[in-house]
Amino acid sequence: MLYIGSHVGFKKDTQLLGSLMEALSYKSNTFMFYTGAPQNTARYPISEELTLQAFELMKKAGMDASKVIVHAPYIINLANNKEPEKFQFSVRFLQEELKRCETLGIHYIVLHPGSHVGLGTDVAIDNIAKGLNQILGTCSVTILLETMAGKGTEIGSRLEEIQKIINLVEDKEHIGVCLDTCHLNDAGYDMKEFDQFLDIFDSMIGLEKIYCVHVNDSKNPMGSHKDRHENFGFGTIGFDALLSIVYNKRLEKVPKILETPYIDREYPPYRYEIEMIREKKFDPGMIQKIKQD
Ligand code: FE
Ligand code: FE
Ligand code: ZN
Repeated sequence: MLYIGSHVGFKKDTQLLGSLMEALSYKSNTFMFYTGAPQNTARYPISEELTLQAFELMKKAGMDASKVIVHAPYIINLANNKEPEKFQFSVRFLQEELKRCETLGIHYIVLHPGSHVGLGTDVAIDNIAKGLNQILGTCSVTILLETMAGKGTEIGSRLEEIQKIINLVEDKEHIGVCLDTCHLNDAGYDMKEFDQFLDIFDSMIGLEKIYCVHVNDSKNPMGSHKDRHENFGFGTIGFDALLSIVYNKRLEKVPKILETPYIDREYPPYRYEIEMIREKKFDPGMIQKIKQD
């Protein structure tokens, strides 16, 4: 079975129910959201009522709630301990995010490992593991380290770095990985040879650690370290390579999430991209069609 969805909004008044309704409007059977603004840590209380309603609707729609994903705000940086207060703030905030996930009945949260900001990779990896060890151990939520493009001083653009972090984490049951195809391409991994990539991943980390795949195309060539997402099939990875990732048998149970850009910053492309994916047919006129609809 194919689990396909997109990133969706999460609004104060509608919360999980609103996110779910947005996902259903794209004909998704899974989705991912931030529990507030991705770029800040302002958060409001979770409504039990709206959460219950969302779970009822998921049941009715035949959606597997265990596949739904939260993304942690990207300002959390567990790699940087230059200022201990800031590091502790990141730890505490992530702890609270995990609690929010539990309240929302969500099992997985995607986290950017962080940026070393001049501290160097080894120190950063140590900091990240220390932070994670403060957070994990008492919670039912699993943290998924996202593979990164290697922009600036980002950690996680090499599988070796992800592997080292996981090795240092004590609560192995609650640590996993989220692949991002745009990031992997920009980091220098060939997404057109995805089975070879999975072989390497399996020997280093283990395929069973993959709980989510962000299926984005890239605006830039392999190894560019840029991190600019492109619509599905319209970038340098291309439709055929992305489609074979989506349908790869080895990741069949893993939810695939689109984080592709809005058209003209206004129109979400997800309903159209999901249709192309389900029909396994590329529509070069998709962007024009979205503008007209
Ligand atoms: Fe991300
Ligand atoms: Fe991503
Ligand atoms: Zn990205």
